Amino acid sequence: MKITPIIGLEVHVELATKSKMFCGCDASHFHAEPNTHTCPVCLGLPGALPVPNKVACEWCIKLGLALGCSINQETFFERKNYFYPDLAKSYQITQLQKPFAINGKITINGHEIRINRAHMEEDTGKSVHVNDSTLLDFNRSGVPLVEIVSGPDIKSAEEAKEYLNKIQQIIRYIGVSDADIEKGSMRCEPTVNLCIDDQYYTPLAEIKNVASLTGVMNAINYEIKRQSEQFEIDHQEKNSTNKTTRGWNAEKSETFLQREKEGSADYRYFPEPDIPPIIFTPEQIEAIKATLPELPDDKINKYKSYGLSDYDANQLADDKSFSEIFDKIVTQNDPGYAKFVTNLLIGPLKTISIEIEKINPEYFKKLFDKKSELSSTAIKDIILESYQTNQDPIAIATQKNLFQVSDTGALEKIAQQVIDANPKAVADYQKNPLSIGFLLGQVMRASGGSANPQLAKEVLEKLLSI
Ligand SMILES: [Zn+2]
Repeated sequence: MKITPIIGLEVHVELATKSKMFCGCDASHFHAEPNTHTCPVCLGLPGALPVPNKVACEWCIKLGLALGCSINQETFFERKNYFYPDLAKSYQITQLQKPFAINGKITINGHEIRINRAHMEEDTGKSVHVNDSTLLDFNRSGVPLVEIVSGPDIKSAEEAKEYLNKIQQIIRYIGVSDADIEKGSMRCEPTVNLCIDDQYYTPLAEIKNVASLTGVMNAINYEIKRQSEQFEIDHQEKNSTNKTTRGWNAEKSETFLQREKEGSADYRYFPEPDIPPIIFTPEQIEAIKATLPELPDDKINKYKSYGLSDYDANQLADDKSFSEIFDKIVTQNDPGYAKFVTNLLIGPLKTISIEIEKINPEYFKKLFDKKSELSSTAIKDIILESYQTNQDPIAIATQKNLFQVSDTGALEKIAQQVIDANPKAVADYQKNPLSIGFLLGQVMRASGGSANPQLAKEVLEKLLSI
């Protein structure tokens, strides 16, 4: 049986705007006193009218552009009708027919994953379960939410994870949300079904309540296994187009059936009568595009053009502020220098939290120019100290006597003394040249660690061969 998983992901991202989507309430709700950020609009009281948040709409477009989408110049909001205690109005204002952004894509390891749409909507309130009671907190009700829907192009749980990491990275780069899965400002719902033997399809399952990246992967793997087992049991029901909604139980690590056969018709979508169509002119969209920073893929390509490896380029681009530090130090294509700086940034400097303001590019350059006279350990120590004390690295190296003795004459003198003082080691060397380590150690010690080890070895070999 050939099983090809077909996985899509719906990602909800809370935008970090100051106010909510359709009212002026404070949109921050993490750890806020329950029901303190509310008003008649976000509590759904009769007669209250929504006013769309312009910045949220612009950020939704910005996110769409960052995901390579086309932007619909004219859009409108719709009502999605359903009852749930945390949805005070009994409908959610969202977009179905005309999302802000459509037809984008992102690439994971050369594999293209389509972004079908990114639309604007509002978050619901939160049900808090305490003992046998359920309490409602409406601080989150009406917080701007962008839903990003991928095409069913993802092939494995691992790829789903990489896709989510990439989406999160892009969102953080453009600064519209912290996209924190643990805090709930980014939430993911995988949809999974299987193509079997290139001809049969299992019913599509949409999985809810997955609260972590590991949960997403576990839920997908569970569904792949469950659906293939189910297919073997009832494969007379071929080419099913059924859709089910399943919940994720993180404790038991399994999904369970919640609802069957539910389509958009069940939500009786209709245009929101209280909000006129939203129009963005091409000039306005261009102006939003102009605010986009250099995106992760652009950074990675740029670093690779500097001769850096895939691994190094990804490490540098991983976090926007980290890549900005690199960009401040390395301003042009200079492969040797780029590699030198990369090794320091993802090496010793990665162990402390560095701030871009405290970085002096000139210090890196000075150290680079003198690198042949310093051991790699010394370079690491110097750059750390230079960063922490804002001192010239060359001054530090001089003070601490870290420059290696590369003066052959001086080294020959030391080496000769070592040879004269260690006749047994010399005899050992004559029998086994590999035992030079002992003599080399003595030379290094006699020079106070300042000898260039390579040169010291050459000098010793030369003197011993006479
Ligand atoms: Zn409000």
